[in-house]
Amino acid sequence: MNLHEYQAKKLFIEYDIPVPPGYPAHSVKEALRHASELRGDGWVIKAQVHAGGRGKAGGVKLAHSTEEVETLVRTILGTRLVTKQSAPDGQPVNCVLVQSMVEIKKEFYLGLLVDRASRRVAIIASAAGGMDIEEVAATHPEKILSIIVDPILGIQGFQTRRISYLLGLDSKQQQQLDKIIRALYQLFLDKDLSLIEINPLIISDEGKLQALDAKISIDDNALFRQPNLEEWHDPSQEDEKESLAKRYDLNYVTLDGNIACMVNGAGLAMATMDIIKLFGGEPANFLDVGGGATAGRVAEAFKLIVSDSNVRAILVNIFGGIVRCDLIAEGIIKAVEEVGVEVPVVVRLEGTNVDEGKKLLAESKLKIKIADNLADAAAKVVAAAKEVY
Ligand code: GDP
Ligand code: MN
Repeated sequence: MNLHEYQAKKLFIEYDIPVPPGYPAHSVKEALRHASELRGDGWVIKAQVHAGGRGKAGGVKLAHSTEEVETLVRTILGTRLVTKQSAPDGQPVNCVLVQSMVEIKKEFYLGLLVDRASRRVAIIASAAGGMDIEEVAATHPEKILSIIVDPILGIQGFQTRRISYLLGLDSKQQQQLDKIIRALYQLFLDKDLSLIEINPLIISDEGKLQALDAKISIDDNALFRQPNLEEWHDPSQEDEKESLAKRYDLNYVTLDGNIACMVNGAGLAMATMDIIKLFGGEPANFLDVGGGATAGRVAEAFKLIVSDSNVRAILVNIFGGIVRCDLIAEGIIKAVEEVGVEVPVVVRLEGTNVDEGKKLLAESKLKIKIADNLADAAAKVVAAAKEVY
């Protein structure tokens, strides 16, 4: 789960990590009230969306008067912001962060994430901050320093000093950075995070370090023990079908093809997507209904699949190991009837009670095509998807 910048900054404040003063606003009126509460000779208006690259996309604007604050908030709030990282049609801007403007002397990159190779937390730093870190990594990898934290020892002084030298900090700033990194590491552990990214971490005109931007991702598997953070979940920023799937507890990922798949088991789902491609088709989704798929879950999965208007055919691939094929067949028939599936459905069943299952499907009089094996299923579904066009 991702947090908004203003939420991440609330956590930073809790951990004494310096950020410029600012408040979230959901209306022009609220934004103007916050602007008047913030001292200084300018404000930054920042669109709160779950996507980076807002600056280049017009989602971060400087205002020098309250009139300008009003105009900017009016033009940004309620729109969809399209950035390099957003969904193709953008993310809705339901909230802006009104922040005191800061004079920037230098911009750095600082991040913490789980390094899968070492299975430890890594601290990533670069003096080339403020811009696309992906681009820096691709063109100048030597400008990026990566430090692995030993979970027993924790952050060591020599590690934060190495980062300070890389960033060219003076002794006061070195102490600040040491404190910031230790606080970030504690925050990372306390809240079960998978990512903290500060881009840019800046030196202000007063020579002080501040987190100008903040991005935080929480490990979804740990959300059950972070109820306070779960309250910050903003479904408006997520793919509608994916949030629906989360509610049904289905593992679902939207893809851009036109052949929907419904499979039990993640490995089988991957293999199903592969074989669709092998036969010249494009999967519309990844969907694992789980090993213990029930008729009810199959119905929910169908609803999810048919809500995607790109879908031209559906491939159901169920292996009856834990479940019985006849029960699944009943579920499919019921779901197709109830949901009103218009596109062709190809079903491949295998395993316990497969013959009973196939018999039920054949007798159902629905337009369900039964496949004899996975290759047959892929050939049939790819052909079916083409027919509709
Ligand atoms: P992102 O584009 O989504 O990563 O949004 P950021 O929060 O990183 O803002 C983009 C850029 O806006 C930053 O790299 C800064 O150059 C600029 N910016 C943001 N806040 C301020 C500020 O208070 N003062 C100044 N001068 N520039 C700012
Ligand atoms: Mn940024």
